[in-house]
Amino acid sequence: MPLHAFKRPLPLIVAATCGLAAGLLSYPVLRIQSQSRVISNEYAQLSQAARAASQLASDTQQALKARALALDLPAQPPGCPAQVQQQLQQMQLATPGAPAALRVEDGRISCASLPVLVSQDPLPADYYQRADGTRLWHQLQLPAEASHGPYTLLEFQQLALLLKPEEHFARFLGGDAAVAIYESRPPYGAALRSGQIPQRWLQGLPDGLTEQQQQDPQTGDLLLRRLSGSGQTILLASRQASHVQAAIRTAGRYLWSQALLIGLACMVLILVFYPRQSSSRRELERALRRGQMFLVYQPIVDLGSGRCIGAEALMRWRQNDGGIVGPDVFIALAEQFQISEKVTARACRIIAREMPALLQVQADFRIGINLAAQELSTHRTVQRLAALRQQLQLAPSQLVVELTEGSLAIAEQALPVINQLRANGISVAIDDFGTGYCSLSYLATYPFDILKIDKTFVSAAGTDAIIGPIAEHIVNLSKSMGVDALAEGVETAEQAEHFRRQGVALAQGYHFGAPMPLAQLLDLLRKQAQTGTPGA
Ligand code: C2E
Ligand code: CA
Ligand code: CA
Repeated sequence: MPLHAFKRPLPLIVAATCGLAAGLLSYPVLRIQSQSRVISNEYAQLSQAARAASQLASDTQQALKARALALDLPAQPPGCPAQVQQQLQQMQLATPGAPAALRVEDGRISCASLPVLVSQDPLPADYYQRADGTRLWHQLQLPAEASHGPYTLLEFQQLALLLKPEEHFARFLGGDAAVAIYESRPPYGAALRSGQIPQRWLQGLPDGLTEQQQQDPQTGDLLLRRLSGSGQTILLASRQASHVQAAIRTAGRYLWSQALLIGLACMVLILVFYPRQSSSRRELERALRRGQMFLVYQPIVDLGSGRCIGAEALMRWRQNDGGIVGPDVFIALAEQFQISEKVTARACRIIAREMPALLQVQADFRIGINLAAQELSTHRTVQRLAALRQQLQLAPSQLVVELTEGSLAIAEQALPVINQLRANGISVAIDDFGTGYCSLSYLATYPFDILKIDKTFVSAAGTDAIIGPIAEHIVNLSKSMGVDALAEGVETAEQAEHFRRQGVALAQGYHFGAPMPLAQLLDLLRKQAQTGTPGA
């Protein structure tokens, strides 16, 4: 668990903020998704229409060719004998959407299923000829049928079908859609068409593609080109931009409510899971129960002899992932959750287990335990520490409790507890002295045995910093009160020498040793027992 997990704000605020953020962020995503869904849906419809139109065009052409080969008109008597006209009428009936079947001889309509279409006038010369010999006329106006055009005429070996593209293809796509068939090789000829198709849309497909989707950069219309089986004829289907925009608007009508639902779902999820994941209190209690809290010991040295005479016990938390959390995080939380007593109880259990080994090497070894403000209001603290002292059979002054000025300031009824502690042979040290308020008034109110000079004053001592002389004042104060002074946070030999010369009895700091595990402290004491000086 990361350290910041301990400093979580209220679940409701987190849930509401995350819910709002999720709702706001999901809206643009939903909009893009909805737009692309509409567009791909439109392309799917166009593709389906192009496929169907392509199939119909190819069926029509195949049928025309098959019938032309079967009829073999060039071998029949010219003009419009009765059996030819009959064949044409059958052909027309068999081709839905074709107004007429014709015979084209010498470039003019010589026979027709509808006799009125027979004409001496030649057909226009701008037809398109496919490789298989099929000829195509588009935008064809027949003088006899002037009011009904334009037509497309598809002819193979004199047999021709007159086609009305709108009727032939438009049924595949409703409304504004347009379909065109054109030849991909030059000259491009728009053959069958319905709707409005600008000439620029009638392009070939890139090599290797059988279908291509595109959006017209000028109009925004959706275009789909599909190559027919013959590999030459292209089916184009298009959808107007206005139609697509309207579909997007319709699809987007409920997006805000969807985004709102996502936001609410996030809120609910966070509210459901937050307490389980963020209950720092439960995690702290679980860690205490499971023995994840352990002690390290920082040596306390007698400046006169240079010997380690005791240690301060400092708590650490080893987490499941192996990471170590320092007390700066969890001690404050324990105070906030009013479970500092449990931390001290744990510290006492560990000391009861580990102290005998230390006492074996050094019988008069002293141990210091830190207490929180709330523990000064209950006699359970006295009972717990008195029991520890008795269990370990410690002499008076071997068990020291450290209280900060700050905790004395907030604790109510601290005096009876402190008196009881001392009455039980437990020494009291004022920790971090000089950093709290009204220091002197506390000194006068509470009986104590050791004054621990805070490390800020220790590191400033002897320098020209404005707080430089404060350490010396504290030393003098301790002398006048007849209590021991202890310099905390001594990091250099110069600092140690400075306080020794001032008559300070005790010191602690990285210069003598950082907080260390029991085994390391035991090594140090054993070495000291052999050589007379600590082996740090
Ligand atoms: P503290 O009682 O003032 O403990 C001394 C702190 O100063 C320790 O930090 C120690 O590692 C650090 N320190 C020691 N020597 C030096 C030095 O030469 N230079 C510097 N810069 N720092 C030094 P730590 O272990 O992180 O403890 C922080 C505080 O947490 C302690 O301050 C104490 O108030 C509290 N604490 C630790 N363990 C317990 C505990 O079991 N119960 C309670 N109630 N509080 C605890
Ligand atoms: Ca302390
Ligand atoms: Ca301190």
